[in-house]
Formats: sequence, C-alpha cells, structure tokens
Amino acid sequence: MPDPVYPHASRFGHRLRVCALYPDLMNIYADRGNLLLLERRCAWRSIGFEVTPAGLGDTIDPEAHDLFYLGGGQDRDQVLCARDLAEVKREALHAAAARDAVILAVCGGFQLLGHTYRLGAEEVPGIGLVDLHTVRGEGERLIGNIAIEVRLPGLEGPRVLAGFENHGGRTHLGPGERALGRVLRGHGNTGAGDVEGVRRGNVVGTYLHGPLLPKNAWFADWLIARAIGPHADLPALPDDLEHAAHAAARRAAGI
Ligand code: GLN
Repeated sequence: MPDPVYPHASRFGHRLRVCALYPDLMNIYADRGNLLLLERRCAWRSIGFEVTPAGLGDTIDPEAHDLFYLGGGQDRDQVLCARDLAEVKREALHAAAARDAVILAVCGGFQLLGHTYRLGAEEVPGIGLVDLHTVRGEGERLIGNIAIEVRLPGLEGPRVLAGFENHGGRTHLGPGERALGRVLRGHGNTGAGDVEGVRRGNVVGTYLHGPLLPKNAWFADWLIARAIGPHADLPALPDDLEHAAHAAARRAAGI
C-alpha cells in the first residue's frame, strides 16, 4: 500500500486525493492493488497522489478527497464495515457523490453501496447511494473469470473490463438504475441475466476483482480523469505490460 501521503511534484498542477475505506478489512483478492495502480499511473505522469486511510470509527471529509475506494471482504468483516459505514460515513459519502467525487466499490463494497445486504436472517445496512439490494441466497457462490462490455462517457465505443468474481450475494438493481456493463462471460450481478455492476455518474460498483485496475489500466485512467476533472489531460503511457495483463484476463474469461 502506498504511504499515506505520497506527494509527487505536480507538473500539471493536478493531484489525485484518494480516501481508502477500511484498507485492512476490505482487501480480499489483493483489492489494494487497485490503489497501487492508481498511484503508479499518477506518479508516471507527475500527477500528485495522496491516499488517506479511513478505518472503523474514522470520520471522513467529503471535500478532502477526489476518489473514495472500498474493496471487497469476507462476510464477517463486511458486516463490521457496513455498520460503521451506515453510522459514521454515510452522510459524507452522499455529500461526496453529490459533488461528483468518484466512488469505486468492489464486490463486498459494491453490495454496501445499496440499501441492504440480506445474509440469512440478518439485514446488513448499506448506505443507499444507489438503488440496489443484495441477497445472500442458498445457491452456490458465483465464481470465475468474467468479462463485461461497458460504455462510458468520454470514451468512444464499447470497451471490455475483465476480471474475476467470487460472491455469494445476488445483487438486484432498482428499475431506474443502470448497470456498469453487459456480461460477455461470467455470472454478473445475479447469475441470471446479463447485467454487471452499477454506475450512476461517478459512483461505480462492480464484482470484478483481480484486482480490477491492473487488469484494466484503461479504466484506471478513466477514473483518474473523472476524479481530477474535465481538464485532466492524461498523457499516454507505454502500456505493453498493462495490455498483456488485460489480454491475459480476457483470455482467462474466454474472449
Ligand atoms: N461477502 C460477499 C459475498 O460473498 C462479498 C465477497 C467478496 O467481496 N468477494 O457475496
């Protein structure tokens, strides 16, 4: 994980301020690698980068960060974080979303963006940032490599996100809510149907681990640009390794 403050001199006057929510508890499948990838791609472009961890009990300032990140976790850790999110951080995250900060939530984190996560008899609270709910049914876990097709503002044509999913929960989007993408291979939100994740403006939830961003560096750049603002002009990077990682993840998913 990067140092809490990692101030690169900024050639362009840009800086990405990240808030990492529960970096120790919500870090399954090395989801923390997503932060490392963001840090490196900013550093390579001389964009300032700082990451502030926010754990149980910590309040957060919605104005102080451009991107809020919440990874996935085991059910037990997720329940701890869910209560804290709902009681301590909910209002700040709503305020952050209202000012168009980027909120990226993976798997367990994605589930907590919604209203509730029903785990047997227990109803775990979400923060209600998007209209969805998740149910941990009796069925098998939805596990495997996955690829989805996404269309994002500012990018021409459809793109592919590839990763790995492993979730017991089935996530149901409300009628007005838009998925992040269409499943090409894999299970997606419910295992029945072809939708994966959620996106409302700059709030993004997805089941893709892997970690997500090292396998999809183009998506990391989209998030950085959305977080820094419309004037962010991100110079291209020599991405041979990143393209190879993306191609390998697509091959693993069978496309
Ligand atoms: N605990 C959640 C589930 O199984 C999320 C797991 C995860 O983050 N991989 O549905």
